[in-house]
Amino acid sequence: MKLTIIGTGYVGLVTGTCFAEVGHHVICVDNDAEKVKLLQAGGIPIYEPGLEELVKKNVASGRLCFTASTAEGVEKSDIIFIAVPTPPQPDGSVDLSFIERVARDIAAAMNSYKIIVDKSTVPVKTGDKVAETIKRYCKARVEFDVVSNPEFLREGFAVEDLMNPDRIVVGVRSQRPVAAMKETYEPFNAPIIVTDINSAELIKHASNSFLALKISYINAISVVCEATGANVQEVATGMGMDERIGRRFLNPSLGFGGSCFPKDLSAFIKISEQCGYDFALLKEVQRINAQQMDRFVKKITDTLWVLKDKQIGVLGLAFKQNTDDVRMSPAIELCQRLLKEGARLRVHDPKAMDKAKAILPTVTYVDDMNAVAEDCDALVVATEWDEFKKLDLEKSRKAMSAPIMFDGRNLFDPQEMERLGWIYKSVGR
Ligand code: NAD
Repeated sequence: MKLTIIGTGYVGLVTGTCFAEVGHHVICVDNDAEKVKLLQAGGIPIYEPGLEELVKKNVASGRLCFTASTAEGVEKSDIIFIAVPTPPQPDGSVDLSFIERVARDIAAAMNSYKIIVDKSTVPVKTGDKVAETIKRYCKARVEFDVVSNPEFLREGFAVEDLMNPDRIVVGVRSQRPVAAMKETYEPFNAPIIVTDINSAELIKHASNSFLALKISYINAISVVCEATGANVQEVATGMGMDERIGRRFLNPSLGFGGSCFPKDLSAFIKISEQCGYDFALLKEVQRINAQQMDRFVKKITDTLWVLKDKQIGVLGLAFKQNTDDVRMSPAIELCQRLLKEGARLRVHDPKAMDKAKAILPTVTYVDDMNAVAEDCDALVVATEWDEFKKLDLEKSRKAMSAPIMFDGRNLFDPQEMERLGWIYKSVGR
């Protein structure tokens, strides 16, 4: 099929590439001319495992191309996916100006029947607004359908998730686009659920809010564990073996972050408020998350006493492992808070250092994770990269002024760390 993706970011680029991989012809559009130039020259603007090879392969096969022209993308395809940002506004509601802009650009370029599919995470009823906008600004008298097709990929596992989705949600206002949507997704061999458009839009916000809730739940349990001498890892394992609960998203930490959970949670609270419902449960999820960071910072300041002029090594800048994405990263927030207290930082991340440089210009970036600890008063684990489990603990300990580790991701075994001579403080144990 001929598909166009508007917005070639984390979602758009990976979605477009995976569609090409299963045999569709895909045009990826972005209004960032520099990004398009980079992609056309064979560069990849983001890090996702397996993505670079797949992009190269599909560009070479002629099934994937890039343009800065929305008009070209709309004219040449039957199905247009929207994957542009939906960032938060200061009051927590969603800034829908990117979606409106794209709807107007699509309307201006429509030359035949099109299916316009929203993949961005949007408030319920956005599909109706997109349909109204297209109708208002479309000069040609052509028919179209608007579909909601929320995306559930995890950054860091985006290719894997897109190639093997748990389910595909297709929300429609009429039955007309259903067959084409099913044909588009047929190669992925995943269950397709067809719903009304409002339900599809709600499924995304309800899912992300639930996952955030699960993280805050285990983080709250970690507080009780610390107060009672219990071990949150064992509690999580015991809970997670119950099939009704499941082990995933029960990892205690310094809190969740990233470009999705915080903003989707705020958006869902706002949407509920606009419907006349006070979603107090989700406000508590936010509060627990903020407290988890406060508690972690307090653990550091309680132990190190004065932070001014102390040198602290930080392992991890990305908001989670396997990505270079630092948007709303708890690791970045932690660095900013330590800097505010006057600490000097030596930091390392396997993939996110380039993106972090604009946000943290005053820290020392260290290429080798085993050199981060040099002359440090403490080492902090802020992101759960698997590589960090292979840190040379002996070399790091010997290089430090004091062998203290604050592990915000529970990567190491407390008893083993003690045996190796570390003062080791983790979360909930
Ligand atoms: P992103 O910022 O990585 O990418 C968005 C791209 O859209 C950028 O390259 C930007 O230049 C481009 N763009 C903006 N306005 C445009 C326009 N008018 N025309 C053409 N291109 C335009 O964002 P993302 O992380 O891919 O997220 C996109 C949407 O998908 C958001 O609604 C997000 O909530 C949702 N989502 C994200 C993830 C994730 O893990 N990142 C997962 C599921 C859903």
